[in-house]
Amino acid sequence: MKIVSACLVGINCRFNGKNKANEKLVELFKKGILIPLCPEQLGGLPTPRPPCTIVGGDGHDVLKGKAKVLTRKGEDLTAYFVKGAHEVLAIAHLLDIKEAILKSRSPSCGCGKIYCEDFTRKLRDGDGVTAALLKENGIKVYTERNFNCSDY
Ligand code: SF4
Repeated sequence: MKIVSACLVGINCRFNGKNKANEKLVELFKKGILIPLCPEQLGGLPTPRPPCTIVGGDGHDVLKGKAKVLTRKGEDLTAYFVKGAHEVLAIAHLLDIKEAILKSRSPSCGCGKIYCEDFTRKLRDGDGVTAALLKENGIKVYTERNFNCSDY
């Protein structure tokens, strides 16, 4: 079993109430090997919700208390993002899951690259909060861009 970002298998959990369904991952989901989770919903945020960005670092810095997750208006939603990440990790531990396929670029799920602080579509190096926590706990994180579905 692997964790997958819920939006990637067609769940309408994104900030705008939509999804980012990936056809190949939907097929794997139908085979029953993916557990769809949305850390932002698990953290207690509503859908739809304001888009957020990490300010002052990346997800690892958020976990250390050195960076924050803010809305465009500057509302601090860091606690929701951290709670959601820990909920995902708890489910991974409960099911002994060692791999996750997370939505690229998101402030929660992004792995390797995340959006810049200024709400443009520009990218910077770094991990989202959930991706960071999973990696720090030995879980291998892929994105929909680098996971090879044809192996399954
Ligand atoms: S938090 Fe992750 S799973 Fe939830 S909508 Fe954002 S990218 Fe998708």
